[in-house]
Amino acid sequence: MTANLLDFDLEGLAAFCERLGEKRFRATQLFRWIHQKGAADFDQMSDLAKSLRAKLHGSAHVSGLPVLSCTESADGTIKWLFDVGHGDAVETVFIPEDDRGTLCISSQAGCAVGCRFCSTGHQGFSRNLSTGEILAQLWYAEHHLRKRLGKVDERVISNVVMMGMGEPLQNYNALVPALRAMLDDHGYGLSRRRVTVSTSGVVPMIDRLGQDCPVALAVSLHAPNDALRDHLVPLNRKYPLAELLAACERYLAHAPRDFITFEYCMLDGVNDQPEHARQLIELVRGHRWADGRVGLPCKFNLIPFNPFPESGLMRSPAGRVSEFAALLSDAGIVTTVRKTRGDDIAAACGQLAGDVKDRTQVVERMARRRVVMIHPETPPPSRTKKAEA
Ligand code: SF4
Repeated sequence: MTANLLDFDLEGLAAFCERLGEKRFRATQLFRWIHQKGAADFDQMSDLAKSLRAKLHGSAHVSGLPVLSCTESADGTIKWLFDVGHGDAVETVFIPEDDRGTLCISSQAGCAVGCRFCSTGHQGFSRNLSTGEILAQLWYAEHHLRKRLGKVDERVISNVVMMGMGEPLQNYNALVPALRAMLDDHGYGLSRRRVTVSTSGVVPMIDRLGQDCPVALAVSLHAPNDALRDHLVPLNRKYPLAELLAACERYLAHAPRDFITFEYCMLDGVNDQPEHARQLIELVRGHRWADGRVGLPCKFNLIPFNPFPESGLMRSPAGRVSEFAALLSDAGIVTTVRKTRGDDIAAACGQLAGDVKDRTQVVERMARRRVVMIHPETPPPSRTKKAEA
């Protein structure tokens, strides 16, 4: 079997070249051809020695993922569905804005976390993507869009968010080399501040990411107290809010940004009441650091829910989202409301891929476990210390 060179960061590719009896600097040339020029054909790589190209033909290949579908929204958002084999598919979304182009990438086929409001979570977990399958999404999108926009040597994707299907920190070993290739100046040359890993709260891996490859961190919070979060994000039972916030605090020592982004999906009648906003304020402003400081630097991103039938949940009315945002902002917390993009093509994240493979047993299990909490008991968070003025 030959190696897919998309599976390597630069260090991994250098080791591969050494195994072929080549100097490490050959890896830099190869890496640039693959990631900066989008080349997959070794014969196209004109500055590589013929002898190396011959070795590569016998030992390696550069293979992206087959595209099952590509849908484009009226607002310019593009959603690709990639085939990852055995009936599994993953979604990748490009979101163009005036000052940036953001690519939302998947890290797993399905997801084991099972968040109540997430279409991917309702499908269950199939498998981890390889580094090559994670990078193939960026590799394809970047070079496809360059050709399409006639910008052959100009970068189109300026930001990457690991917010597609899957929990990236539960696929850590494949994720980190992919992140390194994104950041590498010989690869995509993205700034650490513009690559974001979004996690539902895998605490030990947040710590490891801070050591191994600190990029911007977004935490899917979605609830202001453990009772509610246990229901919405089942991983909370393993890593409750106090542990999660402590991990965020530790991460800030390494992070390229001096705040953590908290994602908060607004669910009608579930987590969108003024009391929930007040609890959130108390949670983050009252967070006490190990060294005695008080208050966790953070930003909130409120996300209008994309309803899908199996969830039994509804999107919060726009007025309530605005009121919720105002409560957080008035407490001095930077708060944004995510613009809904690609509504006409996307439906809920993961829904297109779910249509490819309906793991019926998982869907039935989720339906049995579903808890629709209109006004759940919401005991106050255990940390109630006053925030710093
Ligand atoms: S929100 Fe993220 S972590 Fe939760 S089920 Fe969906 S993909 Fe998994």
